[in-house]
Amino acid sequence: MATSPTSRRDFIKKIGQLSPRSVRDTAPTHRPLLLLWLLGRVAIGAPRLTTWRETRAAFEKLEGAYGNGATADSAQYPFWVLHATDALWEIKDAERIAPPPGQRRPTISVLDHVNPEAGFTPDVHAMLSAEPGLVANAAAILLARFFNPVPAGLVADVGLDGLLPAGQEADLLLPVPGSVRFPKRKAIHTAFGGQWTSGIGTLDDGLMCVFSDARGPYDDRTIPGTDLIEYRGQGLSGDQSLKGVGNAQLLVCQREQKPIRYWHQPTGGDWTFVTWTVIVDRRLVWGRGEDKQWRREFAWVLAPVPSPFRDQWPQSVLDRLAQDDQQTHDETLGTEAPTALSKRDTGRQYRKLCASVERRERVNHSRTTRTATDRYFRSADARLAVMLRARGKCENPDCGGQPADVTDRGDAILEVDHVDERAAQGRDHPANMIALCPNCHAIKTRGSTRHDLKRKLKTLAQRLHREAEEWENTS
Ligand SMILES: [Zn+2]
Repeated sequence: MATSPTSRRDFIKKIGQLSPRSVRDTAPTHRPLLLLWLLGRVAIGAPRLTTWRETRAAFEKLEGAYGNGATADSAQYPFWVLHATDALWEIKDAERIAPPPGQRRPTISVLDHVNPEAGFTPDVHAMLSAEPGLVANAAAILLARFFNPVPAGLVADVGLDGLLPAGQEADLLLPVPGSVRFPKRKAIHTAFGGQWTSGIGTLDDGLMCVFSDARGPYDDRTIPGTDLIEYRGQGLSGDQSLKGVGNAQLLVCQREQKPIRYWHQPTGGDWTFVTWTVIVDRRLVWGRGEDKQWRREFAWVLAPVPSPFRDQWPQSVLDRLAQDDQQTHDETLGTEAPTALSKRDTGRQYRKLCASVERRERVNHSRTTRTATDRYFRSADARLAVMLRARGKCENPDCGGQPADVTDRGDAILEVDHVDERAAQGRDHPANMIALCPNCHAIKTRGSTRHDLKRKLKTLAQRLHREAEEWENTS
């Protein structure tokens, strides 16, 4: 049998681990609802112990008004389970109401007959009574996980309106965005629980987090022209799968539109909880694993939201969610991993990437809020194609010499750019793009000869594109 929590940390962990068995994809609300009522009793200074009959009357009223009907169970289930499984409260003379053999809950007739007393364990009750902030924190967690958006009247009906002012529930979830810095993941774990190695997981409070480290191993970034974040899925090497633990967790978050904390660590900086987000799109893209090999990776598209509570999400995010068809949009379709060494293979891969870019140019003309995201992923393939074409060398024929070093992934240090920045509003196609070393790139953006260079590069990019398309036919 589980032991009753004796610290703030243990208590929050118990609340976070409360994940009622899912019935028809909907988490039953009976345990969270009973807990909210119990927290409300602490908030209004009610005695520690209540009775079965009092609990049942209060619970049935709440379940009728706010429950999601995901289970036929009545009050006897949460009444028993919070004691027997979660050890959050005690039932006096529990042995007198123990479930019949093979049953998971006591019968109502026995409960009615015995009418046992029950309440938070003395440790939990003392802790909660001494710290209203803990009551508010626990209640906010339950609301964010099980009653989101918060139904009107629920907070007042459980007696928590004094502790949880409407619209401010998010401030009671800890940490709040931007509030604290951590030098290491382990320090976040020490303060708020959860694991400290994987990029995807929950804190003690059971709410999901993704961790984005600028040093890798994953390439996460903001999608240009939007406030959306591209978060690469979990799985260090080989094609990623939705069955992998982290990706499977994000899949549930996407399906249920659950709030996710987005953490980021810039190179040389501290970890911060940047913002709450929600997944609005899922794509499959080419990326490189820890072993430097190309493979398919999930790109989860996260939209920042001001609060984990859905009623505070902006219309633009709700529109994106409404457009999300929950499918994997496979951006690698029709292309190959750009791994080839021979010119002929490189030519074939180049042509396939160009064809994929062109195909998507044709279908993406519809004006949806997804346009910027579509363009971003299409442009990523155009960049891959240009990198293939460059074959590790700066494409400027007058290059004064590119750095001999390579990136951590083993790539030449090259930047793929539009031949003319003004064309950045135009087409993201390899015929308009060029791979330059940092020196040539600097000349192109701020050198005195930049105008001449750009003119030259414009015709050059088109010629290199035509030539690369012919490589496939070389023997
Ligand atoms: Zn160069």
